[in-house]
Amino acid sequence: MNDKEETIKEMQEIARQMVIDDIEENPDSENEGFDCDCCGQYKMLAGSVRYGEYRLCNDCVVIAEVSFKFNKIKDIKELIDANEDNRLSGMCEFIKQEEARENN
Ligand SMILES: [Zn+2]
Repeated sequence: MNDKEETIKEMQEIARQMVIDDIEENPDSENEGFDCDCCGQYKMLAGSVRYGEYRLCNDCVVIAEVSFKFNKIKDIKELIDANEDNRLSGMCEFIKQEEARENN
């Protein structure tokens, strides 16, 4: 496993813990949803994070934090913009594949 994969794994672990913590703190957050500002999908409130004026779902938080770590983005708006024209889709695909591998 290289450093990049290691970092993504770590972030996925942290993000998963955030969902658990949120549900523990506020059980309703598991059933409440919102429209993610990054992927545009309707996602569970638990595990979501507010970055300034944007709220990102748990999946996008992983992408955001990994992107920050690898200096792919300087602020969250860059990720939102990048997501629009799929500049980071390679990264997103990579993370999805990692998840799929784990779920098998
Ligand atoms: Zn999202």
